[in-house]
Order: sequence, then C-alpha cells, then structure tokens
Amino acid sequence: MPKPSLPFELHTEFAHRLPHLVAEARGEEQPAARIVVLNEQLASALGLDPDWLRSDEGVEFLLGRGPTAPHAMAYAGFQFGQYNPSMGDGRALLLGEVTGPTAPHNPAGLWDLHAKGTGPTPYSRFGSDGRGTLRSMLREYLFSESMHALGVPTTRSLAVLATGRPIQRQVVEEAGVLVRVAASHIRVGSFHFAAQSLRPGMLEQLADYTIERHYPAADYQELFIRAMDAQAATVAGWMQLGFIHGVMNTDNTTLSGETIDYGPCAFLENYDPDTWFSSIDTQGRYRFGRQPDMVGWNLARLAESLLPLLDDSPDSALAWAQEAINSFAERFEKARRVEALQRLQMPEELIQDYSTALTEASPDLTQAHRALVSAAAGTPAAAYEAFAGTQFVDAYCASGPDVARLERSVPRVIPRPRLVEAALGDLDEFSRLLQATTHPFDPAPDYKQPGGTEGYLTYCGT
Ligand code: AMP
Ligand code: MG
Repeated sequence: MPKPSLPFELHTEFAHRLPHLVAEARGEEQPAARIVVLNEQLASALGLDPDWLRSDEGVEFLLGRGPTAPHAMAYAGFQFGQYNPSMGDGRALLLGEVTGPTAPHNPAGLWDLHAKGTGPTPYSRFGSDGRGTLRSMLREYLFSESMHALGVPTTRSLAVLATGRPIQRQVVEEAGVLVRVAASHIRVGSFHFAAQSLRPGMLEQLADYTIERHYPAADYQELFIRAMDAQAATVAGWMQLGFIHGVMNTDNTTLSGETIDYGPCAFLENYDPDTWFSSIDTQGRYRFGRQPDMVGWNLARLAESLLPLLDDSPDSALAWAQEAINSFAERFEKARRVEALQRLQMPEELIQDYSTALTEASPDLTQAHRALVSAAAGTPAAAYEAFAGTQFVDAYCASGPDVARLERSVPRVIPRPRLVEAALGDLDEFSRLLQATTHPFDPAPDYKQPGGTEGYLTYCGT
C-alpha cells in the first residue's frame, strides 16, 4: 500500500544533518483529540491549509502521528545553575521543517514545526509522563502570540489541541498539545550536548548548521557574537515591556534569539526589579532585574561549549572567549538604548532619569508608558503621577516625541497575570484576551484592562 503523503512539503533537515542529536519518536494516541485554537494566519503564511489541519489527518499530523518521522531533540542544560548532561525533548517532537517567509535570523525561511505534550520520548526521564496540561499549552499560545505582536523575537504558536486525556498535576486536568513554530530549536543546551559528546565532529556540525540556518557566512567567533547580540536584543525587549521569563535555563536560551518555552512567565505590573512570580524559582534567581545578568551567564556557558572551535590554541580560545563575554554588558546596554529609542523615542541622555524615576515611583509599567504618550500629546497629569514628579516628564516631552509613532510602539494591552489565569479556564475569555493582546496597540475600543498582581504566583503547571 502506498504511504499516505502530506499535502505540503515537510523537510527533515535537522534530523538528517545532525542524526546524533535526535531520536526518532512518535506521538502517543490520544483518546479524543480536537483543535482548540488554530492560528489560521500563521498556517497560511507557512503554506499549511487550515482546513486540512482541521481534518483527521491534519490532527494526527499535529500530534506527531502522521506519515512522517518526527524526532525528539537531544540537549543538556544548566537548570537553575546546576548542570544536567541529559535532558532533551522529554515530551515534545520536532515534526519537521516547512518553508515560509524569511525573517531576520531566518534567511532561508525554514521554520520548525514542533509539538509539545505528545507523550514520552527516548529522552523522558523516569517517571515523567511526556504530557502537559491544556492550560499550560494555552498559556504558551497566548504569551508567544502576544510577544510576537509586541515585536519581541519569539517562537510562534500554530495550534493547541485538547486530548481528552485526564492527567494528574496539582489537580486532575485535561492534557493538551501545543504546536509551535520557530526559526529553530537550537538551544545553548544543544551546544553543551554536542560539546560533551565523544563523537568527533559533532560540535562542529552543530555550529556549521546553526550558522547556515541563522547567520550565514559567519565564522565560529562571529556565531558567538551574533548569538550574544540576538539575545541582548530580545532580553532588552523583555525589560522594556516588563516580561519575566521565569525559567532562563540554558536549555531555554536559543541561538536564534527567539524567546522560547513559556512556562511560569508573567508580565510585571508595578515596576520593581525584584519581582518574580514562579513558584519553582524559590531563590528568585530569574527575577525581573536579574534577567540581563542571567542571559549573560548563559552565554558564558555557551562560550565554554564553543571553546574548541574558537581558536586552535586552547589558551587563545579562552582569552578570546573571556574578552567576548566581557563585552556582553556593553552590548546589552546598547540593545537597551535601541529599545528605549524604538519604543519611546527616548533620547539617550534621558534613559538614566527614566530608569531612576521608574525605580523610585514603581508605577504600573504599561500604564506609565501610556501616560508618557498622553504627556507627549499635551496631557501630562497621569505621567507626573506615574513618575512622581515633573522633571523627567517635562524633559521627555521637550525632546519632541512623535505621538503618531508612539501610538504604534507603546502597547495599551499586555497579558496581565490575573486576566491570563481567568482566560485559561474559559475559551470565550481566552479568545477575547488573545484578540486584545495580539492587537496591543489598537485593541477594540471597549476593551479595558484591569490590573493587580498582589500575591500572584505562577505554578509551572506543566
Ligand atoms: P521545560 O521546563 O519545559 O523547559 O522542561 C525541562 C525539561 O524537562 C525538558 O527536557 C523537558 O522535555 C522535560 N519535561 C518537562 N515536563 C515533562 C514531562 N511531563 N514529561 C517528560 N519530560 C518533561
Ligand atoms: Mg525547556
């Protein structure tokens, strides 16, 4: 019998090029799978027919059960500072790659389709079930699509499926599957894995493939520099908008710079660098204000994994890596200035006053930024209040920001914590919040956002 085929071209480039970084695996059978959310726009942009995705064959494909060879990807990682040499996709599968539009770090327009919650793989740890809650998958869908709309580099979400399978977490919940799209799933942890391998050439092969996919024509040193700058730009975007990732382990840090793995993440409301919400981050290692240092730390671990490629002489490689890592703080500050300029048209000489005012007044960050837009438009009262004084606000207005441009860069809507929680159990609420957060600069006129994060804690809820 001929093998049924897919109505689009699916590549298996990563698995073919890096066979020792993957293990073949299939998604498990689901009792009652159905699509809960489908990103039709994204599907069409990737040449995937939304009607086919909704068909029985489409659903099977999204679950990792199509006529293809999905693969779990291997990686290692520093988890909260502790090295774990064997991690990998324990509940996820790379379905393959499709060709779509090109993007800054995706010059060939090759996009991973990756499904999460599809069941155990050869990399599942003993006792782990390879599944995840429908709520956690909806959460990632909402945050990633919101981040994309806000203009922060991120993986995208194509679909969430409910499975009809009850799973035991804090309570019994229905399991779900998320299908996401990324420029790649190459992580800092992928490089740890390749570097620790005894197989000759693996590290080089991974680096060559990463360069081809994201930074064509770069050499190995340039690869590291480009990855640093990509991460600096992304984390500067987080800092500008108040996003707290929550689990900045090296396996959750990409070479493309895309934000990945939305677990116990949240947007802060009142500005406070000491904010963190994740119940698993008991020490606040990944608190808001530490994110730049933490990504710098992760990049230092990347440099260590890359050492054999950086120079033929180990001493020279180490010296080069040290100097490159030392440049991160300045690279991040530069990314921060670019971000403040693009979002708020903030002149460089005002950034220090702006940061000081935020730290001292601790306003709701999103509302404070909107108050600056109103101030620029001639109504400064709310900004005087948000920034506890007139000096910085008057200086900002005097710099002459263009209000029409501010309206397209300063969001009115973010996925506020309590709204997210309310939306995860109610699909109508979910659709409303998704609609608003994916149009953050121009939500429906009657859409109003209440705030309030006191006592809020995100559980991994995985
Ligand atoms: P994450 O916190 O989602 O980044 O996952 C960290 C590691 O744990 C990855 O290697 C995952 O594949 C693995 N993992 C998380 N949850 C599960 C699960 N329910 N079953 C199997 N592996 C899991
Ligand atoms: Mg992860």
